[in-house]
Parts: sequence; structure tokens; C-alpha cells
Amino acid sequence: MPLHTVKKQDTAGAADVYTTEVSDQRLPKYRMPENSSSPRDIYNLVHDELLLDGNSRQNLATFCTTWSEPEARQLMAESIDKNMIDKDEYPQTAEIEKRCVHMIADLFHSPAAQTTVGCSTTGSSEACMLGGLAAKWRWKKKRIAAGKPYDKPNFVCGPVQICWDKFARYFDVEIRQVPLKGDALGLRPEDLRQYCDENTICVVATLGVTFTGVYEPVAALAKELDEMEKDLGFDIGIHVDAASGGFIAPFVQKNLIWDFQIERVKSISASGHKYGLAPLGVGWVIWRDTDQLPQELIFNVDYLGGQMPTFALNFSRPAGQIITQYYDFLRLGREGYTKIQQACADTAQWLAAEIAKLGPLELVYDGKDALPLVCYKLKDGQDHGFTLYDLSERVRLRGWLIASYPLPADRGQTIIQRILIRHGVSRDLAQLLLDDLSKAIKHLKENPVPHSVAGPTFHH
Ligand SMILES: *Cc1c(COP(=O)(O)O)cnc(C)c1O
Repeated sequence: MPLHTVKKQDTAGAADVYTTEVSDQRLPKYRMPENSSSPRDIYNLVHDELLLDGNSRQNLATFCTTWSEPEARQLMAESIDKNMIDKDEYPQTAEIEKRCVHMIADLFHSPAAQTTVGCSTTGSSEACMLGGLAAKWRWKKKRIAAGKPYDKPNFVCGPVQICWDKFARYFDVEIRQVPLKGDALGLRPEDLRQYCDENTICVVATLGVTFTGVYEPVAALAKELDEMEKDLGFDIGIHVDAASGGFIAPFVQKNLIWDFQIERVKSISASGHKYGLAPLGVGWVIWRDTDQLPQELIFNVDYLGGQMPTFALNFSRPAGQIITQYYDFLRLGREGYTKIQQACADTAQWLAAEIAKLGPLELVYDGKDALPLVCYKLKDGQDHGFTLYDLSERVRLRGWLIASYPLPADRGQTIIQRILIRHGVSRDLAQLLLDDLSKAIKHLKENPVPHSVAGPTFHH
């Protein structure tokens, strides 16, 4: 019988994916279906549903990696089944994690880079919690040794990322967030005396404030803490939250002293998945030397028949991100990181200069001397007929995702907008965005948004 006369039922494999039984229905939302379906059909439907997400490459609100080399993707796929905690079963993965720790410790100028302790985490949030916990235990042990109470720990910081509010609440430590005064965008040395006391477990300095990208002056903060130790007797260490700056400053601001070169810096955390260029799901925390991580916090897991010390909030964790971080270090080297981060910095500064020319926008941070990003506000004292929220919405029509938000602390009334430049945001993409911003502003000027007259807080 010739093929064109054969009549058989559509099997899942043969039917067009949009003519199968499952593609005829809405996908379940509350109950697992009774029956199985073909992987091809379900893949297709789930894949299509995700079309409604924003396009990550146009998401200029995120610091996180949105572009990876094919080889990085391949290593991620090959490691999908590897659990980071199974150090006995996957000793080479454990070895790779250790190598990353020492390379980062060296990058951050640890005086004991080859022997110090550190670990991978799921991101900077977990890394900050571990850094904060170690500081709490160091303080607690000193207080016990001195026969003093240890029930009211606090830490002092500027405009921190939300993970520090979490640390404060989850681990019962008072957060003393210094409000921004005048035109300050971060913690200043002169703020410290008023906020620190004998119960201060550490000062958190942010290298790359989330809201504006600026670096807090770690060396100057340390110097003030030295003075305070002389005058008041409190020996307070610093944890540097270098979530973003940890992989920018060593390559772009090579002469800036912010890391373990400063004696008072006891621990540093950084996000591998931000400017570390690794795929989502990895952060790092490194201690200056082994003495800074209290033994009480370390648990031992089996490792090649021996014991491996671990300090983490999680147990099982994917290993691919760590393996890929190692790939990035080897493949790019310092040369590659420098070129990528410098290209981002150049583009950010170029974009800042162009944004300043658009008219209604005033730069708050111009991409120089800190993270490769731009942030700006609407010029004061004018009715522009629109808010930055309106502008965000307008450029979203072209797929751009740009964050607008109020500056924290004292300057809660100032609304700013921030554009991140990272690996994969080329000069051409930045130019396309600029054209769209310019068109959006022109449109909004010609078509003022009535609700904006009441001010940005009303809209918010
Ligand atoms: C992003 C960020 C964090 C949180 O990092 P994750 O890797 O997203 O957990 C903490 N601190 C700062 C300063 C950040 O920018």
C-alpha cells in the first residue's frame, strides 16, 4: 500500500505540536494532571509560556549575569547532576571550589591567600549572612572572655542591600543604618562614632551601593575605626559587602585600597553571578585568615574518607555554577576580566554623558570611579509632565527593563533611575537604548501624564 493511502491515528510524536490534545487546553494551575504527556509537547508549551517573561538581555535593572559563552553553558549542562555538598563523591568539584576560594582570596589580597578559609554560597545574600554570623561569634567570644553580657549585638552600615535587614532579623542583631545626610550616597567615617559602641559586632561597608553604584570609602572607615579604638577601646572589624564591586575594583580601579590590604577588613563577600560573570547561583565569602572564622560555626562532612570543614546555610546545592566560575577564571584570566569590565565602564560613562544631554535628567552617578552603571533623577524645581516611573513604563514598550525607585534613608523623596552596564551590554545596545529613552522623553513631554502632577510618591 502506498504511503499516501495509509490511515493511522496521530501519535504524539508525529502530530504537529500545536495540534496535540494537550495543546488544545489551558495548562493546569492548581492540580497535577492525572496522566502523562509527551515531553516534546509539554516542553513546547512551557517554553512558550516563558515568552511572557521580560528579555533578560534587555533587563538593565539586574546586576546578574545574562550572557554566557557556549562552553559555560555546556559545563552547566554537564554538571546538572552534581551536588556541591557531596565532597566525598565529587572530590574534584570540591577541589575546584577550593581553588576558586584561594584565587579570590589572592585577588582580594588576603595575607594568607593559600591557607585562608572561604566558601561558595548561593549568592551574596548567603555570603553576607555567613560573614555577619562569623562577626557575631568573634564579638561574642570576646565578650564572654571579658565577662561582659553578649545579648545586644548590633552592626553599623549605610544604605545596605535587603540581605542585611534579613541578617538582622533572622539572627537577632540590631541593624544601625546611618541615614544619608546632605548629598552623601553612602556611609561616611564621621558617622561612625555616633552609631558604634561596645556591642557593635562589625561595620558593613558596601563596595558598590545597590541603589547608586558608588563605593563606600573602606580605607577611611577603617582609619576612623583605628582612631576610635585608640580613644574608646572598641576594636571593631569591617565586613566588605563587595557583591558587585568585588569583581570590578580589582580590574578597573586597580589602585583603590578597599580589601584585605586593610588590616581591619576581616571578611569580604562577593557575587560570582554578578560581575564575577558566572551563571546565576553562586556567591563567595572569604575570611582574611583562618582566625577570623570561629571554629564553632564549622561543621565537618566526609571527604575522601577524611573530614572536610564546611560553613553554609544550605546542604545540597548545585555545583555547576562553581565549576563554571572556575572556567571563567581560567578562560579569561585577569586580562580578560579587565577588558570586559573596562568595556562596561567605558560604555557606562559614555551613556552617562549622553543621558545628561537629553535635557530633563540630572546625573546622580556617572559611571566613574565605581560600578559600571548610570543613575540619574529628574531635574529639581521643574514640572516635567511625567515621572521616572512613566519613563520606565514607556521604554518597556520596547522591551527595556529599567528600575526606578526612591533613594533610601533620608532622601526617600528623591526618585532615581538606574541603568546597569554589564557583560553583553554592547555600545550598540546602549545606543539603541539611548535612542528609545530620547524618543520616550519626547513623547512624554508632548503627552504629559496627568497623575504625575501630584508627584512621584502619588504614582508610587
Ligand atoms: C546583589 C547584592 C546583594 C545580594 O546578592 P545576591 O547575590 O543577589 O544574593 C548583597 N549586597 C549587595 C551590595 C548587592 O548588590
